[in-house]
Amino acid sequence: MIETTSIDGKAFAADLRTRIATEVANLWDKKGIKPGLAVVLVGEDPASQVYVRNKAAQTVEVGMASFEHKLPVDTSEADLLALVRKLNADPAVNGILVQLPLPAQIDSMRVLAAIDPAKDVDGFHVVNAGRLAVGLDALVPCTPLGCMMLLKHYLGSLSGLEAVVVGRSNIVGKPIAQLLLQADCTVTIAHSRTRDLPDVCRRADILVAAVGRPEMVRGAWIKPGATVIDVGINRVPREDGKTRLVGDVAFAEAQGIARFITPVPGGVGPMTIACLLQNTLTATRRQAGISEG
Ligand code: NDP
Repeated sequence: MIETTSIDGKAFAADLRTRIATEVANLWDKKGIKPGLAVVLVGEDPASQVYVRNKAAQTVEVGMASFEHKLPVDTSEADLLALVRKLNADPAVNGILVQLPLPAQIDSMRVLAAIDPAKDVDGFHVVNAGRLAVGLDALVPCTPLGCMMLLKHYLGSLSGLEAVVVGRSNIVGKPIAQLLLQADCTVTIAHSRTRDLPDVCRRADILVAAVGRPEMVRGAWIKPGATVIDVGINRVPREDGKTRLVGDVAFAEAQGIARFITPVPGGVGPMTIACLLQNTLTATRRQAGISEG
């Protein structure tokens, strides 16, 4: 029986934020530069409001400037594009994040494409996706970046490992697969049309689940000794009528089979905002022509 270790993403993210805060302070002391992150929220979606509030609070905590732009739900695409252009031109703003989803009257792809790729701290612009794909310096989407930091910390070199990513979205599955490939893994991307998914998953030394289906990946799908990264965040009903969060992996079943696993909550989730701050720092340095620390 394998001893399964739960990866503490919350503690790792707190440590990363401390390191970012030190580097932000150094940047100010040595160069007089204070990184600035602009977050744009259109409408009043409750989950998005919570994300934006958390992002702004953590931005300030690490010593960066936070610029919040809250626009009404009936904002036109033209008005949002005008704001993005203003933020692109503002030297105090080093990173721009437009919170998704956007209301139906706005074409998200057009808005993401309008963000200056050098300030695209979500890493969703096609220029950054393309740079990642060809192995150039890119701003990498935050959740995939966080997954890679955890993997490298716990496993060291990933070279030669079999990695299976379940999910092929542009914001999670595809960029994680690119990063694993860059780290010299042999990568398989599985999705809703994959045949014999349990067999495909059982090949994985590193199994990443980014599907959005509660506890779909069962214990029997996991290769003994594998590392499991559970990106899924699913809200399911509890017996008392309230709800609880579960991942895409049956966490209890993975005990004694996986060597490492990220829990939900407390695994990948906390890394996402910390990596947004990391990307803002990276973007600031690149814009100022400062080599990366
Ligand atoms: P999407 O819905 O965009 O993509 C889901 C992917 O899963 C698709 O590629 C889909 O395949 C695949 N899929 C769906 N059903 C199956 C199935 N039965 N078997 C195999 N593959 C399947 O989701 P996201 O990538 O945006 O998010 C995935 C999960 O990660 C969600 O739970 C989300 O909440 C969570 N998330 C967590 C974050 C964090 O901070 N921890 C950040 C972002 C997301 P196909 O392409 O064929 O349809």
